[in-house]
Amino acid sequence: MRYIWDQGQIILDIFRGWLLPILDISLVLLLMYAMLVLIGERRTLWMVRGFIVLLLAATLSKQVGLDLLGFVLDKLVVGSAVAMAFILQGEFRRLLEQIGRGHFGQLLMITHREPPPQADSVIDELVDAVKELSQNRTGALIIVETDQPIDERDFSVPGVRLNAELSKELLQTIFQTTTLLHDGAVLVRGGRVQAAGVILPISERSASRQLGTRHRAAMGITERVEKCICIVVSEETGSISLAERGMLDRPLTSSKLRELLRVKLSPSMERDTMTPQLRSLSKQLRSQGQAFLQRLLRLPSSASREKR
Ligand code: ATP
Ligand code: MG
Repeated sequence: MRYIWDQGQIILDIFRGWLLPILDISLVLLLMYAMLVLIGERRTLWMVRGFIVLLLAATLSKQVGLDLLGFVLDKLVVGSAVAMAFILQGEFRRLLEQIGRGHFGQLLMITHREPPPQADSVIDELVDAVKELSQNRTGALIIVETDQPIDERDFSVPGVRLNAELSKELLQTIFQTTTLLHDGAVLVRGGRVQAAGVILPISERSASRQLGTRHRAAMGITERVEKCICIVVSEETGSISLAERGMLDRPLTSSKLRELLRVKLSPSMERDTMTPQLRSLSKQLRSQGQAFLQRLLRLPSSASREKR
């Protein structure tokens, strides 16, 4: 009995002494990795890297006895954490949502997410439909998902699911005032018309009096979903607008709209240069973490070799 008790104590000591710190470090590395994977902008990535460096510097200076420097760096870390919580609202929200939904695979990019196909033909169909709608003074509201998935819970009413191939005829038909689906917005995802009759949250920002609920709805959804864009055709004036991050770009000609959609929907230059960078950073993190763990795991054997 005593023997079993002693064995249990030894296992517990090994767990506390070695496995617990390893688990601790692995979880921190995993968390950092998830954060870096979630961040899609070069500017933001540098900010997070800066924060991590600051955090490490604060810990290191306290460890080596530079108490005053450690104290100052600690305050800086707290200040930066608060500032980052404001700046990275969207990323934090996504992180919490994915944790809440248990999408850990997506969080660590184990499940590969294909970028939505936004071919030129889709842009052409969209622009042709908008041009016709504008000429006929038919009001329209079209949300286009880009690389950040839109959570349909951000809609006030999700509308009617269609999942139909996008065509200018379909879009024009939906927005005719005689159809049941004309009221509300159409959701375009991956080159398909996912839903129609979607009711969007209205922006509470002060805006020109000329802008009614259709335009405010476009502002509202693009405020909530940072990377989506929303096309509006005014029923009153026929003017075309493009909403992004809560701001309306208007009035636009159809050729200007085509130009803007090409820039916003084809993978941007920044993302192109960003993705390999992010990939190499996560690779570095992974290999450094592995090397660190290997060194930690090798320590007891080298120590025992020395004893011998
Ligand atoms: P327009 O220039 O076309 O008149 P507007 O900005 O003045 O646009 P309203 O005249 O209020 O806006 O447009 C009303 C239409 O906008 C509704 O019939 C409906 O189709 C659409 N709409 C209004 N609110 C929403 C909303 N929250 N979500 C989606 N669509 C909406
Ligand atoms: Mg109006």
